[in-house]
Amino acid sequence: MAFQTSVLPAVSWLRRAACRTEDPELFFPISATGPGQAQQDRAKAVCARCPVRPACLDYALTTGQEHGIWGGTAPEERRPTPNRRTPLHSTPRPMTAHEHRHAG
Ligand code: SF4
Repeated sequence: MAFQTSVLPAVSWLRRAACRTEDPELFFPISATGPGQAQQDRAKAVCARCPVRPACLDYALTTGQEHGIWGGTAPEERRPTPNRRTPLHSTPRPMTAHEHRHAG
């Protein structure tokens, strides 16, 4: 999420983050609907080509990041739900062919 390494100096994988050169605002949509949905989709497209996506998601889950797109997930996708059969884990599932086509 366009990390500022001065904020997270101990997270070495940040150097390889695909969002290094992106506007940080992109990763914090105001809402998940309307223009915010398009912004979220653009952020997730950056994450889809990011080589450190699993580490990023693991970091977000471990540190309880409640806002923003991390590891290709929106906040609501990271929250535990009563109906989730398996816990959200740190390794995202492989993208489907459909997702690849729409990932940018
Ligand atoms: S997964 Fe997304 S938010 Fe995380 S480092 Fe990569 S591009 Fe940035």
